[in-house]
Amino acid sequence: MSNIKAILAACVIATIALISTVTAQQPRAVDAKVLTTAGTAKDAMPGTWLTYGHSQSEQRYSLLKQIDETNVGKLGLAWSAPLTAAGGRGGTEGTPLMWNNTIYQTMDNSIVYALDARTGEQKWMYDAKIDPITPSHMCCGTHNRGLAVYEGKLILAANDARLIALDANSGKELWQSKVADINQYYSFTIAPRIAGDKVIVGVGGGEYFIRGFFAAYNLKDGSLAWKFHTVPPAPGKPFEDKDQEKASKTWVGDWAKYGGGGSVWDGLVYDPDTNLVIAGTGNAEPWPQEMRGIPKSEWGKWDNLYTCSIVAVDASSGKLKWYYQTVPTDSWDFDSVGGFIMADVQIEGRTRKVIMQAPKSGVFYILDRTNGQFISAEPFVPVNWVTGFDKKNNGKPIINQDAYYDQTNSVVIYPGGGGAHNWAPMSYNPNAGLVYLPYSAGSYTFNAAKEPDPKAGGGAHGLGRGGQDKRTTPMPICWRRHADHGQQPPVPGCGQYAVRLQGGYG
Ligand code: CA
Repeated sequence: MSNIKAILAACVIATIALISTVTAQQPRAVDAKVLTTAGTAKDAMPGTWLTYGHSQSEQRYSLLKQIDETNVGKLGLAWSAPLTAAGGRGGTEGTPLMWNNTIYQTMDNSIVYALDARTGEQKWMYDAKIDPITPSHMCCGTHNRGLAVYEGKLILAANDARLIALDANSGKELWQSKVADINQYYSFTIAPRIAGDKVIVGVGGGEYFIRGFFAAYNLKDGSLAWKFHTVPPAPGKPFEDKDQEKASKTWVGDWAKYGGGGSVWDGLVYDPDTNLVIAGTGNAEPWPQEMRGIPKSEWGKWDNLYTCSIVAVDASSGKLKWYYQTVPTDSWDFDSVGGFIMADVQIEGRTRKVIMQAPKSGVFYILDRTNGQFISAEPFVPVNWVTGFDKKNNGKPIINQDAYYDQTNSVVIYPGGGGAHNWAPMSYNPNAGLVYLPYSAGSYTFNAAKEPDPKAGGGAHGLGRGGQDKRTTPMPICWRRHADHGQQPPVPGCGQYAVRLQGGYG
């Protein structure tokens, strides 16, 4: 987001805040109990925004009623504030928090602003002063998506893989924890989430040679509570637990020299109903499966768990409860990392506690979040990497074998670079039963390099150059725009691609 847009966004939010905080009471601390009510009908602090997705279910649905379709056109500028004081570095992908009449906004390069919501006056500004090597050790910019607030503390995941607690009133540091090493290409862009008395955070860096993980830290002092690795240890090294041993059986060959990937850079929720932490994991690394040690005769036969998956662990212990792999043997950077929405919805006559995700793969997944049971998966853009979902195998995606590629065989894959839906938040209206999300439809030509190279632009993911020159016959696009609602005549050549859109998407 540009600086100008960031300022404007703050103004709109401030306008809403002004209206909603007129009757605000003396602020009370945000504790685990308050957070379970945030953004719900029982909201203990209506008019605030206390967690990244507004509620712990991350529905981003506001119950405030003072602004509606009859007066939204009358909204105007209440104030503006520059967010570029820290050396002109002002971009943001961050969702601001609103508590105690204060807007807390993160910016690129791990800078935090605290602004009075009523006036725009800056209360304080904090610069984490990230390690100077950080920009050259992140694939896609020094972004930051937001903060967590808990008992007067703000928790920041700084780009150089440090977790930092600030005093929400003063901006002073309370504690710091080095979660991982930026020199080893671990980084943060994620907004931390609160789970009871812990804060959960996941690492970025999946376009480099990392072994991904997410972890819980004790809010009191920043000490480590538990860590869940999304990729097993290198062959020959001891397993942390049976979950890692299980994952190791889905990898083959000399894969560990490139780390394995499985970053956790956005989608993360805590479900107080089940005491589960549910995380989305990124691509396997490097992208071409042959570079992960899978011989051509066995392409698609090694899932590479727990990459490109939705993973649920017990919030107290960090032990695995269930997983669902949205893209087995991911070779297209389909990162199952986009944000989640949790909801209780009626499906076939009974209430299901579901979790929903619309990640880069272009497929909208719905699972039962209590146990990981598959409910549905449907494309929301043209998609050609998957031919169906095996309902006898808990909805495991059936990969289109024509979607695999190597140095000599290029393929055109839908959706393409950046994915169908990346980090941009989505929302859910429980009254309408609709999910709203931005998407982009497109394609990208994949072929493999000889070796992954960390110094190559964009990271070490192992894609070749000049893929366009080697393009094979494009695979047909088998799903058209949502507006067709599945009514479009069959696309020639698509008979082998079994899944078609059912109904439409709002
Ligand atoms: Ca990725």
